[in-house]
Amino acid sequence: MKMHNFSAGPSILPQEVLKKASEAVLNFNNLNLSLIEVSHRSADFVAVMEKARHLALELLGLEGKGYNAVFLQGGASLEFLMTPYNLLPVDGKAAYLDTGAWSSNAIKEAKLLGEIDVVASSKDKGYTYIPKNYNIPADADYFHCTSNNTIHGTQIKEFPKTDTLLVCDMSSDIFSRQLDFSKFDLIYAGAQKNMGPAGTTLVVVKESVLGKTGRTIPSMLDYQIHISKDSMFNTPAVFPVYVSMLTLQWLKDLGGIKAIEKINNAKADLLYGEIDNNPNFKGTAVKEDRSNMNVTFVLTDDSKKDAFDALCKNAGLNGLKGHRSVGGYRASIYNALPLESVQVLVNTMQQL
Ligand SMILES: *Cc1c(COP(=O)(O)O)cnc(C)c1O
Repeated sequence: MKMHNFSAGPSILPQEVLKKASEAVLNFNNLNLSLIEVSHRSADFVAVMEKARHLALELLGLEGKGYNAVFLQGGASLEFLMTPYNLLPVDGKAAYLDTGAWSSNAIKEAKLLGEIDVVASSKDKGYTYIPKNYNIPADADYFHCTSNNTIHGTQIKEFPKTDTLLVCDMSSDIFSRQLDFSKFDLIYAGAQKNMGPAGTTLVVVKESVLGKTGRTIPSMLDYQIHISKDSMFNTPAVFPVYVSMLTLQWLKDLGGIKAIEKINNAKADLLYGEIDNNPNFKGTAVKEDRSNMNVTFVLTDDSKKDAFDALCKNAGLNGLKGHRSVGGYRASIYNALPLESVQVLVNTMQQL
């Protein structure tokens, strides 16, 4: 049966990427060696890393603008700690926006290193909206936000105008919509939502903001060290980087972020349209803040759960279970998910 993969992460990748990746596992670049058994210092793999870093900057429109891109390990969760290590001076203060479980994890880690001002939180209403009209203190050394709240299905549509450094966890919506990425000083994203397999994290940083904290930073946590070693300070996650490179190339060939955004909007419109019009379903996020990547919804009548789950199973719909902390349903409609899969989901919702 054809499966439709709505998983939140690890999540769907383009079929042609999976095919090329599996070929490289057996025979990389016609070397008659596997991608995962050759030296990361070999010319063939160094070229992969360079291409992946280059494509990331190119797709974000950040080439030649003082940014660098590195592929690190430890997930987005380690960036929660690396960000303050690299940007928060010893006696400094950082401002954080609390829009969900991942934001609050970021806040918890940052508090290990200094004063953190939580400028606003939507926890009061189960993180179903994005706070607005908050103040970022002028003396904050940076402002941190989460562009898309994977678990709660909300997304920041307009970023605050601020003179402080802007740091963003874009794990679940990077490369999905056009933004002026040059407004951000540091962007990070775990690969496994919209780019590749779990195991690597893309960090894009404006180099001029680094090296100013007066801290002694452990080598593995120091962005400047990773940059100076061309993202090869230690053995990189060769397979996740390779697959990420293939996905970024796939996106470029498709026409880049501009082209995928159109498709993403069509998918989101189709699905939200059904949720809003079908009396069996209700969206959980406030309309103006709802995400184009993770669509969260519940049944209006819980007694229909078994019937709906059976319909989904028969239609090959996979990964729709909501996060264990919030329940309900979540359809993750990342870049690689075709419109056709959303149509199958909508048809299935109509059968209930
Ligand atoms: C998944 C996710 C994370 C955590 O990523 P890990 O790679 O598991 O550390 C952090 N932030 C957001 C927005 C996420 O979606």
